[in-house]
Amino acid sequence: MKLVLLGPPGSGKGTQAKRLAAALEIPQVSTGDILREARRAGSEVGKRAAAIMDSGGLVGDDIVNELVRERLGRDDAKRGFILDGYPRTTGQAEFLDAYLAESDRALDATLVLDVADEHIVERIVGRRTDRATGQIYHLEYNPPPPGADLVLRDDDREEVVRARLEAYQRDTAPLIDLYTRRGIVRKVSGNGSMDEVMERLREALR
Ligand code: ADP
Repeated sequence: MKLVLLGPPGSGKGTQAKRLAAALEIPQVSTGDILREARRAGSEVGKRAAAIMDSGGLVGDDIVNELVRERLGRDDAKRGFILDGYPRTTGQAEFLDAYLAESDRALDATLVLDVADEHIVERIVGRRTDRATGQIYHLEYNPPPPGADLVLRDDDREEVVRARLEAYQRDTAPLIDLYTRRGIVRKVSGNGSMDEVMERLREALR
């Protein structure tokens, strides 16, 4: 299964991508995670991406495409993958198609998580990640266990969230049309509990 998971920031994409990846036994490939890891490691790419990420803008296609090429070239991605947070621009979508075509591959489905704008900001500003395990929680909707060592992502502050939403509407939402024309889009409501959303995603793939 070669899948793309699309949805606005705060739609639960990362959480669902992890669970779906585990259920389907394919890797989750999150460009956001890869970029955050590059920042932590202090690499050249990480340094170039840092300021852009903190402002809520999009890192350049060239950088992100190269990261994806490297990641999808690894053995564990040969059987399939779930792309989370990529592609985010038409340039990235074109690169992905061309890259997959090199090995006679193509996407099987694009899952789109639908969440109303008004829910997004509250979802994101309550989000916390466990520093040790990477597990994602929400202070209200999915409370962390007591004593967890929690961090707020640098770009989860409200003003940055608004910029990320704008980038999504402007640059990423058009990809839904592109994949719809190709007949591979499956829309799923992102409202409700994480289990409910997960069940809908699995149903959409049946
Ligand atoms: P979210 O989807 O919740 O906004 P991500 O973890 O996917 O969060 O991405 C965080 C930030 O990393 C983005 O705001 C952007 O700056 C950068 N980023 C991640 N993926 C891409 C991408 N495919 N293209 C450009 N920038 C990206």
